[in-house]
Amino acid sequence: MTIPTTASGNRGLQLEQGLIFEQNTPGMSGVDLPAVPKVADRLGDMKSTKNIGLPGMSEPDVVRHYTRLSQKNYSIDSGFYPLGSCTMKHNPRLNEKMARLPGFADIHPFQPVSTIQGALELIDTCAHWLKTLTGMTAVAMSPAAGAHGELCGLMCIKSAHEANGQGHRKTILVPESAHGTNPATAALCGYAVESIPANAEGRVDVAALRAHLRPEIAAVMITNPNTCGLFERDCIAIAEAVHEAGAYFYMDGANYNAIVARLRIADLGVDAMHINLHKTFSTPHGGGGPGAGPTVLSAKLAPFAPVPMVIKVGEGFDVEEHAGHGTATQSYGRMKGYHGQFGVFVRAVSYMMAMGGDGLKQASGDAVLNANYLLARLSEELTPAFEGPCMHEAVFDDRFLKGTGVTTLDIAKALIDEGVHPPTMYFPLVVHGALLMEPTETESKATLDGFIASLLHLARKAKSGTAEAEFKAAPMLSPRRRLDETKAARKPILRWLPSSDSNGTRQAAE
Ligand SMILES: *Cc1c(COP(=O)(O)O)cnc(C)c1O
Repeated sequence: MTIPTTASGNRGLQLEQGLIFEQNTPGMSGVDLPAVPKVADRLGDMKSTKNIGLPGMSEPDVVRHYTRLSQKNYSIDSGFYPLGSCTMKHNPRLNEKMARLPGFADIHPFQPVSTIQGALELIDTCAHWLKTLTGMTAVAMSPAAGAHGELCGLMCIKSAHEANGQGHRKTILVPESAHGTNPATAALCGYAVESIPANAEGRVDVAALRAHLRPEIAAVMITNPNTCGLFERDCIAIAEAVHEAGAYFYMDGANYNAIVARLRIADLGVDAMHINLHKTFSTPHGGGGPGAGPTVLSAKLAPFAPVPMVIKVGEGFDVEEHAGHGTATQSYGRMKGYHGQFGVFVRAVSYMMAMGGDGLKQASGDAVLNANYLLARLSEELTPAFEGPCMHEAVFDDRFLKGTGVTTLDIAKALIDEGVHPPTMYFPLVVHGALLMEPTETESKATLDGFIASLLHLARKAKSGTAEAEFKAAPMLSPRRRLDETKAARKPILRWLPSSDSNGTRQAAE
């Protein structure tokens, strides 16, 4: 099959269009503004001397330009998005409706506390659910994302060590399979990071962990379920060993969707864990935000939690703003302005209340069922990285591509031609040529079957030994073909300059 080149550069109804500055018709305007009245010039030499260079366009051209840009953004609302570790699930529209209620959307954090009692009650309700689900003593609501919640947990741990004369503990243990944010957070917090290996099963090697524990260790950070999509079965033994060594047990709870309403985190001996509300409790989070990363804390760490804290006073609520008062007796201070990502709290409470405890339990069960369905069906042609069932995500290695000349990247690019957003690739790093897929509970069997059919077809085609060139050319049907992603990341071109012929035509970009 050869893809025809078109005179317009368009592919079907996917229209090719230059940047807005390349569509400039000097002097054209979509609005008819009155002439600027003459005023005395008070700007002196700050006065601009040349045109500011806004492109001249009509209103319909502006509307089309931005509508087309919005359509280039693949999202969970456009189709299946099996990106592992990201929990890209459907976000119920009810949550959006609640977040837009004027009583929630049109208030300001500087309003007198007496006028925002409902908002404070909502934050308290969200905190109550998180504490009830996890069994933990306290929750810091202000962290603005998962990584920010990790920072919050480690700041509490650091403060606790310092308060207990253990400030010399300067190292944090992180498993090889950890999400990149774990070592990054530890480093940002001033800690040295030491890696602990995984065993052949893809879980933390407890013996190796024990061997690393010593008086310099401040904490251990473990993701559960881990990034190999597996439940860390030895958490209780890990917690005991860590506590015996005088360190704290931090759990990365970004994958909480797989276990919510099925176990109490407190029962595993965890001291701190962030919860990605935008993942588990459903807020749209493609493209980097907004999110919220409340951090649940054990009784030992609760006094060090950041301010502000919403507290119950009589029948109403108040905001504790300063360290050393009320519950925040040894608070390490403030992480950000105001009370946290309020709009995300509204969505989370709306989601939790609509689902109920039984609904949340069904969601985690269905998320795990869907992932195991992928694991079982895809094992027909692909090679699972680990033996046995998985939790909420299925991970395959690239043994099934051995000798074919086709790589994990080629499969991912060919999936774009199939109309599927590629899964996470080459992560976790401990799996060679990894394909990590998280279907979530909100995908139907029909959607999963379509995805499975595409992937099995590609695997068979790769194994046929005759399609290597075709794979290397993929994607063929998308507006842009294979890009040099390393170059794009390392040497991004961030500034548009008019081309020398500057007649508005776009240079071929392939
Ligand atoms: C998503 C994720 C994070 C980071 O969360 P952000 O909200 O993106 O900062 C941390 N750990 C794991 C395992 C994750 O999946």
